[in-house]
Amino acid sequence: MTIQPVRLFGDPILRARASEVTEFDRELRQLVTDLVDTMHDDGGVGMAAPQIGVGLRVFVYDTGDSAGHLVNPAYTVIGDEEQVGPEGCLSIPGLRYDTRRALRVRVSGVDYDGAPVAFDAEELLARCVQHETDHLDGVLFIDRLDPAARKEAMRAIRESDWFEAGITVRTGHGAGQTGPFGRTR
Ligand SMILES: [Zn+2]
Repeated sequence: MTIQPVRLFGDPILRARASEVTEFDRELRQLVTDLVDTMHDDGGVGMAAPQIGVGLRVFVYDTGDSAGHLVNPAYTVIGDEEQVGPEGCLSIPGLRYDTRRALRVRVSGVDYDGAPVAFDAEELLARCVQHETDHLDGVLFIDRLDPAARKEAMRAIRESDWFEAGITVRTGHGAGQTGPFGRTR
């Protein structure tokens, strides 16, 4: 187990575009392991590499029904149905907001050996793929909210103890209460 400190809103790495992975080495496998351990420790259903301070296009997921990792992921939306449901983020502890996402997506990428991965996802897994891929482009779920909800979210963030204290790295588990993509316990 290698649980890593989680970067919080305010850390610039969460706003940067992550780089494509070009080296499929032992360090990449270790990164995936660290992400899985840190995600599980925090009770999240997904975690992207920038959230533990690594600017590479990698994320892991575990919805309970399916679990895995993706390197250099991409997705396309299938159909035009949407879903609206509560979303949170381990990097924005304590906040959850109803967020609109595509209901179904077609996902592609490679695994840590560079072998192609492709699958269709819907509902929670589709939401997770969209949320985590956003992280790799420096986009956070609050950016997906309508203007009024986003304003409220920004106010809540500014009033958070951790943000007021200028804390952008969270060590140790149990600090978050964010539900899907945050804690589920
Ligand atoms: Zn997140």
